[in-house]
Amino acid sequence: MHTNGQHPDLSAFEGVDFSDAENRDVVIIGTGPAGWTAALYTARADLEPVIYMGPEPGGQLTTTTDVENYPGFPEGILGPEMMDRFQDQAERFGTESRYGTVTHVDFRERPYRLLIDEETPLYAQTVIVSTGASAKYLGLENEQRLIGKGVTACATCDGSFFRGETVAVVGGGDSAMEEATFLTKFAEKVYVLHRRDELRASKIMQERAFENDKIEFVWNTEVIDVLGDQQVEGLEVINNETAETYTMDEVTGFFLAIGHTPNTGPFEGWLDMDEKGYIQTQPESTYTNIPGVFASGDAQDDEYRQAVTAAGTGCMAAIDAERWLAEHGTVEAPRSEVDELAVEA
Ligand code: NAP
Repeated sequence: MHTNGQHPDLSAFEGVDFSDAENRDVVIIGTGPAGWTAALYTARADLEPVIYMGPEPGGQLTTTTDVENYPGFPEGILGPEMMDRFQDQAERFGTESRYGTVTHVDFRERPYRLLIDEETPLYAQTVIVSTGASAKYLGLENEQRLIGKGVTACATCDGSFFRGETVAVVGGGDSAMEEATFLTKFAEKVYVLHRRDELRASKIMQERAFENDKIEFVWNTEVIDVLGDQQVEGLEVINNETAETYTMDEVTGFFLAIGHTPNTGPFEGWLDMDEKGYIQTQPESTYTNIPGVFASGDAQDDEYRQAVTAAGTGCMAAIDAERWLAEHGTVEAPRSEVDELAVEA
């Protein structure tokens, strides 16, 4: 995805008065490990960062239970508690945390213009994007309608609601194996529905799932509908080899484990992205194609996606932003040339 010199639609900015808008040195978007770490470092560099918490404050870790692979926590720590601690540490040094989502950006000229929740104007000298990624759904109408009513993308959050029940996990990767295995703690029976006859998951995760008596694999199978009025009361599936369709009416919980999509929608057309929408950064840095805009965490990482790697790139983004600001200085706002640019765009 390239910008091709075309500016995205800027109509959201029409009629928004930027004359009294705040002008901040560092605006951080997103509050997972990357965002909080960027906030910690820029706060300690006296840059008085403001961080927007977005639609899911704390990010994906708030939907997990024990985190056992973050160094420095030998006993493990609950995901939400870890994110609270990240926040406390960033705020201790002066980070200003705000509820709100950055919905539109105008990266034509510095200071960059941002809109918070469609309407509140803000100028930014530098921007650190750490918006993370979100779980994918199949996109079926009834699946969407029943989210939170038996349809979920987070086994660790919702597994315990299905004690003694029969659930199904869709997917064939490590997440599907991990979730299915975890769900056997609660559910009586766990089906893994996979669209092929071979898993993508690592050998060790596969073996763990194969050895579990409560897990049954259903191969070459796709879900075509989720049944139920107020709650999930079954799945309609198709065997894509035989074209046979049938109902699994014992399933009351439907767990998605089919990967993630980066939350980079507001930056489309501005920042270079790969075909999946992950922001492309320059090698060994967090620089994007827009000067003064940096990307960190899962929004730019399709490969490692760990809390510790996200925190690492958040730190890199903070250092990149600090050095970049030292070199390029700040720009007065309001921008006098905005109207001219609007005509050009
Ligand atoms: P993934 O590896 O991309 O696997 C996604 C799975 O969902 C694939 O099996 C894919 O099927 C299936 N899928 C995708 N779209 C689908 C659709 N529309 N309908 C039906 N099935 C669909 O994602 P992941 O399992 O979330 O793992 C992501 C990364 O995190 C991987 O690198 C993984 O190793 C890592 N991870 C590691 C651990 C761990 O080590 N503890 C745990 C979780 C995740 P196909 O196979 O047919 O494409």
